[in-house]
Amino acid sequence: MRKIKRYEITRYSSVNSFDEYIKYLEQKGYIDSERHPVKCFYCGCKKIKIDNEEHLDGFMSPVCEYDAICKSCNKKIGHWAYGSWGI
Ligand SMILES: [Zn+2]
Repeated sequence: MRKIKRYEITRYSSVNSFDEYIKYLEQKGYIDSERHPVKCFYCGCKKIKIDNEEHLDGFMSPVCEYDAICKSCNKKIGHWAYGSWGI
């Protein structure tokens, strides 16, 4: 039997797919249409800082990976790598 992976939104609700999860986050204003985090999932703060940047080929070259971290609660919200977000 295939186990369906569920994404918990709150303690009482969850969705069946990653796409639905992304859609939910977008509706609630946690991420923008390009899936960049704009609001902290934990405390709702909109002050997001970018940290742990990794460059393709040394400093000043294009950034290929970075973390988004909430300035208020200091929790890691997402990791961006090569054009897409992992949440
Ligand atoms: Zn926060």
